[in-house]
Amino acid sequence: MDAEIISVGTELLLGQITDTNRPYIAKHLSGLGLASYHQSIVGDNYQRMYDEMAQANSRSDLVILIGGLGPTEDDLTKQVAADVLGKSLVDNDQAMAKVENWHRDTGVTMVPSNRLQAQYIEGGQPIKNDVGFAIGSYYQNENGADFLLLPGPPWELEPMFDKYVLPLLQSVYSPEQVMSSLVLRYYGIGESRLETELRPLIDTQTNPTIATYAKKHEVTVRLTAQAATKQDADALNEALAEQVNAIVGDYLYGYGDANSLAAMTNHALTEHNLTVSVADAYTNGAIADQLDPAQLRQDLDLAATIMGEQVPNAEAAADLAETLQVAAGGDIVLTVLPSINNPEVSMTDTNFTNELVHIGLKYKDNDAQSFTRTLGRAHRENIDTISFVGLDTIRRTALNLPLLNRK
Ligand code: AMP
Ligand code: MG
Repeated sequence: MDAEIISVGTELLLGQITDTNRPYIAKHLSGLGLASYHQSIVGDNYQRMYDEMAQANSRSDLVILIGGLGPTEDDLTKQVAADVLGKSLVDNDQAMAKVENWHRDTGVTMVPSNRLQAQYIEGGQPIKNDVGFAIGSYYQNENGADFLLLPGPPWELEPMFDKYVLPLLQSVYSPEQVMSSLVLRYYGIGESRLETELRPLIDTQTNPTIATYAKKHEVTVRLTAQAATKQDADALNEALAEQVNAIVGDYLYGYGDANSLAAMTNHALTEHNLTVSVADAYTNGAIADQLDPAQLRQDLDLAATIMGEQVPNAEAAADLAETLQVAAGGDIVLTVLPSINNPEVSMTDTNFTNELVHIGLKYKDNDAQSFTRTLGRAHRENIDTISFVGLDTIRRTALNLPLLNRK
């Protein structure tokens, strides 16, 4: 069996963007038992796309089309593929509802081409897009090549490919193999740095493959292995996870698609039977709200009171942690004290930059400590950042790990 990949887009021909999707998919093909003899780029032109697809249909077993599923006039891939296959396009109700609801909720006027994003090739199957509107499409062809259509934006294509397409291709083209994924979650390291650190592994690995994703305030890594049994595939993932964590393990906080830093912080607290007190004058309770009430000893407004009495600085944050432990208890005491460098700027100003936030920490009988974070984003985003910092500080303390104190 062989698979042919066609990237669609005039901007790719003009060199305005680099075709990263094609190699992303290509590197998985051999693992799926698929050879690849032809890969090409075609512009957004009906006739040239038609000719390219017709040729691929006659010489390959699977044709993978990338891009051109969007709502604009030059997005033709789906219509052309349907014409080559002699099929029409049909609605996917779930995807259509998503498009319609979004337009209703935002008040943005819906045009007919928006509906096209929720259609797939008749007789085939839709492929869910968790990130955007344009669904994928897979069609098994009795009289020619099977067709697979995927969206162009890499942040849509990559998760769709990993989550839905890989298992699908694997079940159709190499059913004797089992596929298994392991998701690793990291906090405190940016995606670009994580990817740079893992580059040598990413470049040489074919089974399992490694994919990195930037999420809000965290990065996940998905390892996907194929083997004769699930146990074998899992063992391959675990061996690679060890290599990955030998490099970036300081930032690893957990595993799994549905996990979160808050969940792992609470897990660490329960596991070690530790209580927490939080005095937080900055995040409107965002840190305490995410903690398991059973572990939360006190969430006092003390910080705000003390702020009125003294200049908020790192030392005050540490002192406050001492005071709060005496007043309220808690094995781990976290204090969050903001000081505003430029009081002229309103706290709700979206361009607010240069906020200082002092974090105080007291753990059992240890000396109180503190550190200061300088934040340069909009105030609302800074709050989000600090709630992650707070949770991670508590988690690391509970697990007796060194703090990150990343600036
Ligand atoms: P399209 O689905 O063709 O409208 O593409 C939407 C956007 O996705 C383009 O503007 C590019 O930024 C990106 N894109 C499309 N195809 C590719 C590709 N093969 N590799 C990387 N990015 C792509
Ligand atoms: Mg395009």
